[in-house]
Amino acid sequence: MSNEALRPETIAAHALRAVDEATGAVVPPIYLSSTYARDENYQPKLKENYVRNGNPTLWQTEEAIAALEQGTSALLFASGMAAITILLETVPQGAHVVAPDVMYYGTRDWMKRLEGLGRITLTLFDPRKDGLLEAALQKGKTDLVWIETPLNPTWDVIDIEAAAKAAHAAGAILGVDATATGAVTTQPLKLGADIVFHSATKYLNGHSDVLAGVLVTREENLRWADVRSLRTKMGAPLAPLDCFLLLRGLRTVFVRYRQCSANAMAIAKHFDGHPKVERVLYPGLASHPGHDIAVRQMRDGFGGMMSLLVKGGFNDAQKLCTRLKVIVPATSLGGVESLAEHRKTVEGPTSPVPDNLVRLSIGIEHADDLIADLEQALAGV
Ligand SMILES: *Cc1c(COP(=O)(O)O)cnc(C)c1O
Repeated sequence: MSNEALRPETIAAHALRAVDEATGAVVPPIYLSSTYARDENYQPKLKENYVRNGNPTLWQTEEAIAALEQGTSALLFASGMAAITILLETVPQGAHVVAPDVMYYGTRDWMKRLEGLGRITLTLFDPRKDGLLEAALQKGKTDLVWIETPLNPTWDVIDIEAAAKAAHAAGAILGVDATATGAVTTQPLKLGADIVFHSATKYLNGHSDVLAGVLVTREENLRWADVRSLRTKMGAPLAPLDCFLLLRGLRTVFVRYRQCSANAMAIAKHFDGHPKVERVLYPGLASHPGHDIAVRQMRDGFGGMMSLLVKGGFNDAQKLCTRLKVIVPATSLGGVESLAEHRKTVEGPTSPVPDNLVRLSIGIEHADDLIADLEQALAGV
């Protein structure tokens, strides 16, 4: 059966092709070698012969992710930020970049740094208002439109198909940070995006023990060749052991993600209208501004990410995090264990994130234990 005929759950569970042809090993081997010998004609045996250019463990992991995202090629990086900063290196000198005003703060800070250096010009738009993405575009000058969906940490949902049409009409490409979708609910490339990004540190690995980033492209082109070459030159590929751990995590991404989604939905419904909660931000709730797009754009659940706007302010939200006993007060997301974070503490006073926002990454525990933990923590706030 060709891979196109297989469903994504099967591709993930088999890590594309788990059985090693040379040995029959059912779990993919790890190639740790940093260098590969040439043959008797002094030709390289593999397409690359030095680990910084690539290696078999990296390629297998990349091919599995490319298949899940239905792209032609994937490139793995030592972190999500390594992938994003290298993609931004491919923006021509002085060209224009468009991105949402609320998004993963590391990406926003890096774009602002490039703007400050005169490397790019930058327009940040409010994704909650119709037409502002289109209004931000400068035909012939905008090179990259970067969106994130669902959007960290408000979980607003951006219409990928509409963003792709607008970007293409202006002569720009669309890149989508789809970290929160886990490659399970949404395939941005099928909706017209040119490049999809995941912090593979999050759902793709899912066990909070790997730092990794991945870009997947719809087509092989000059920009993609540039990204590949920059990854080698800047020395940023993912190391073989981490590729193996990521591949192992990836094999269970569908069951993990579905459990996270079911738990998050139960928690969102429970705390919607709760006397200590001003608002629950979760795309699965009909009251969420992104719900209609989410229903169209996300199949199979709305993910495990949500935020609570706690009644009160900065101190109350921070206190909630300190009172949790099951949910761990830590940064990051997409793991099997639930985490809570007061984003304003982390992002600092210049961040547009509300003071009373607590971000929750819901894991695969029993939903009732998580609800009870949040109830007891809220009772003391
Ligand atoms: C974590 C994260 C990143 C950065 O990825 P790292 O792997 O931490 O470098 C980018 N975007 C989103 C949405 C993230 O959650």
